[in-house]
Amino acid sequence: MRQMLELTGRPASDGIFSGPLAHVGVLTRKRVQTGSPEGEVSALREAVAISLAELFALTEKAEGEAGDILGFQSAMLEDDSLQSSALAAIAAGEAADIAWQAALDAEIAGYEQSEDEYFRARSADLKDIRDRVLRHLSGAEESSGRSGTILVAEDLAPSMFLEADWSKGGAIVLSAGSPTSHVAMLARARGIPMIVGLGRADFAGHGVAIVDGGQGLILLSPSSDRQREYAVRLETLKSQRQREQQFLIGPARRKDGRQIEVAINVAGVDELETIDVKTCDGIGLMRSEFLFRDGAPLPDEDEQYEAYRRFLNWADGKPVTIRTLDIGGDKPIAGLTQPGEKNPFLGLRGIRLTLARPDVFKIQLRAMARAAVHGHLKVMIPMVTVPAEIAETDRLLDLCMDELMGEGKHCKRPPLGIMVEVPAVAVAPELFRQAAFFSIGSNDLTQYVTASSRDEPSVAALNDPSHPAVRRLIASVAKFGRENNIPVSLCGDMASDPVHLATLLAAGITSLSVAPARLGRIKAAIADI
Ligand code: PEP
Ligand code: MG
Repeated sequence: MRQMLELTGRPASDGIFSGPLAHVGVLTRKRVQTGSPEGEVSALREAVAISLAELFALTEKAEGEAGDILGFQSAMLEDDSLQSSALAAIAAGEAADIAWQAALDAEIAGYEQSEDEYFRARSADLKDIRDRVLRHLSGAEESSGRSGTILVAEDLAPSMFLEADWSKGGAIVLSAGSPTSHVAMLARARGIPMIVGLGRADFAGHGVAIVDGGQGLILLSPSSDRQREYAVRLETLKSQRQREQQFLIGPARRKDGRQIEVAINVAGVDELETIDVKTCDGIGLMRSEFLFRDGAPLPDEDEQYEAYRRFLNWADGKPVTIRTLDIGGDKPIAGLTQPGEKNPFLGLRGIRLTLARPDVFKIQLRAMARAAVHGHLKVMIPMVTVPAEIAETDRLLDLCMDELMGEGKHCKRPPLGIMVEVPAVAVAPELFRQAAFFSIGSNDLTQYVTASSRDEPSVAALNDPSHPAVRRLIASVAKFGRENNIPVSLCGDMASDPVHLATLLAAGITSLSVAPARLGRIKAAIADI
């Protein structure tokens, strides 16, 4: 066995896994060409059709984000423009596999060069589509690793993650990749430790390893000392998780008995299938922009109403806070967001954009007012900077209510609250008394207070929610809310990290909204305070 080698990358999903290494790749077999452009075109069309059928079958079994990813891949593959340059090359005499590979490689290169991390992350989906079609063109077999192994690859396609068997656990180590990619999101949701951005590393001669996802660390051929150290850490982690489960049902209470509200953050309706409403105090943040898919038609009023109604039915009378569209910044939607903004995080995003597009905004407000009759709906406005934005949303909501009542449609006016995420609001909350509630968006508040982008690794250390300036603002907003009877909660990622819990509770925060996978951990941590 080789000497231990310790490598570090970027943490993408926490947890510890120890096991054999499995290198993932596509085993290519030389393809027999048909010899005619017509034959090559039909070979490509057939491979695309089989790939699409596979993706549809996988989508049916998938839940939540998994379904979204596969839906995105099917939509890309169905789009004729993806095939057009390959078909042109075949017409000029090229073989189907070579033409397809070249066309997709060019498309992938475009995504990889994008300045936007979201698009760079989507290149993995395109590689997945490329390889799936190539496999069907050549009849090659795929090696996707065995259950209970550490998958090592340059990047991992989301569908390979979904097809892999995780029943015995496992881990993922990528030399490239991004923590914001779809596959990283899937790994976090499934609790599979994952490290990305390891760079070029020599795995030769190493058969086993320990992956520490939280630290972004992989130990190849670990020494017996390190194995013992990690065996102990793993046992501690396991008993911690078991203990956390016991806190899931029932309210979250501090040692002194004071109750802390713990709601959940969600993006899609499917996510709710695996969450018991009894384990939380409702939905503190529903990011409605995830109902809108870039490149797909905007959901109409009925589609949005149906989605919002499902959240309310699930909540069974508990509060559901749905945030109006927060697109722009790192969440572009073609046709809605402004192309070519120099600094999209400081541009037309959130309420700024929806007020600029009342046609789109009114559809959402009408759907929300109709859904409000089905439960305890609260509507939240993102990126508020001045009180006039609340007043204008109020006016539009009134208009929608009048229209709906005029049409004889059942509706109810939901209360309007705001995100506190622009420093101007956190510094001068007294200007926003007309808001029914405040929810502190610590992700953006930290980004704007520390002037360090939330998605730029080189300034990650500065983008720190525990900076005294951020903490002071959170405490002063909580105090203002207490003194003026305005409920204040916190729904940024900070709420999902037990490290910040004591500070938040000391700052007077009594209501949190967290990632569903962190419910048990946060409730258990509250019980320790
Ligand atoms: C935040 O900014 O903290 C927040 C919860 O909103 P998002 O992360 O969607 O911008
Ligand atoms: Mg935000």
